Amino acid sequence: MSKVLIIGAGGVSRVVVHKCAQRPDIFSSITLASRTLSRCDAIAAEIKNIKVATAQIDADDVPQLVALLKQEKPQLVINVALPYQDLTIMDACLETGVDYLDTANYEPLDTARFEYSWQWAYQERFKKKGIMALLGSGFDPGMTNVYTALAAKNYLDEIEELDIIDANAGNHGLPFATNFNPEINIREITAACRHWEDGAFVETPALSTKRSFNFPEGIGPMNIYRLYHEEMESLVKHFPSIKKAQFWMTFSDNYLKHLEVLQNVGMTRIDEVEFEGQKIVPIQFLKALLPDPATLGPLTKGKTCIGVIARGKKDGRRKQVYIYNICDHEACYAETNSQAISYTTGVPAVTGAIMMLNKAWHAPGVWNMEQFDPEPFMAEVGPMGLPHVVIEGEWPSL
Ligand code: NDP
Repeated sequence: MSKVLIIGAGGVSRVVVHKCAQRPDIFSSITLASRTLSRCDAIAAEIKNIKVATAQIDADDVPQLVALLKQEKPQLVINVALPYQDLTIMDACLETGVDYLDTANYEPLDTARFEYSWQWAYQERFKKKGIMALLGSGFDPGMTNVYTALAAKNYLDEIEELDIIDANAGNHGLPFATNFNPEINIREITAACRHWEDGAFVETPALSTKRSFNFPEGIGPMNIYRLYHEEMESLVKHFPSIKKAQFWMTFSDNYLKHLEVLQNVGMTRIDEVEFEGQKIVPIQFLKALLPDPATLGPLTKGKTCIGVIARGKKDGRRKQVYIYNICDHEACYAETNSQAISYTTGVPAVTGAIMMLNKAWHAPGVWNMEQFDPEPFMAEVGPMGLPHVVIEGEWPSL
């Protein structure tokens, strides 16, 4: 029985709160804190079986966070605010001796560059304090790391190639919207692509490599585009046998058309510009105009399919294994008032929290998901709402 503090009250947070509340055997007490108290209260009001306490917090401010942690005394902080807050929340956890979990790696506000270096730098301090940080416990990163660990443990002697493939085959019917925080989403997609090849990351222009991939279970062929994604950094470190690692995501032609125009006119810029005597950051202004991803829940129909294809040898034979999850937007909304992108992130966050609290995964220091035994996590995450499918076969290169 544990007390948890959830920080952030957006789309992912809503799923995290619902899912924690479904497991009062583990989460005996829940506090939800974020920048806008009314958003915390709105989520808390959806939970009927237990009372969710709420608080206002600026998670950029370490002394405020420390005061809240001292007052609440949680066993664990689940950080589902934005990547910009990762380090301040980790600092506050260090000061108060509280375990930490997040779903996205730190990114400085002024550079669109995802990197674990900043968070890995906390390793010795977390160890010395005897507390744990679990990094990237969402779907990608998160489930994709666990799927890779599962492929390495049960299906291949060692992994030589890895393709992580993320399809959102859902449709919200709006001309243009992002399905998670628009600022984070657009920064990720418009950044230069990097993939791992023969011991180094190779840079190519954003969205310049495209394939068609035939998705399972009736989704069918969709265009996938290669982009950089943060889990590749930890996966190639922890599975050094990997010679090539790529991350792919589906985008509709309509989405890419809008993005291209927005980029061409400067609306995706992350630096400050002067506008009528005041400084604004165009991408933040754009975020204010775009639909709030949390409002897409009732509109979105269709499925997501996210998974990994790992290739290597098993008993001397070349083989590949495809491990994926299919999630239905409308089913997610019926259960948690959120679409599948938030759901597929929130469920692994809560599963990671369960792993930490029941000590199936617990050790002082800063950890990525693939560093732990995947099996206890997989045993929990299916019943929590994200079952997986495994397809083994020959090795055809993508
Ligand atoms: P939202 O924008 O919907 O929610 C973010 C929340 O954080 C908002 O409630 C916001 O407050 C709050 N917040 C922002 N700044 C602060 C601050 N300084 N102090 C306190 N609260 C703050 O984002 P999502 O729910 O879509 O995403 C949440 C996280 O999940 C992000 O880090 C995202 O990158 C990650 N993610 C990970 C995925 C994965 O698979 N690993 C996939 C999708 C998302 P306010 O309400 O006031 O704006």
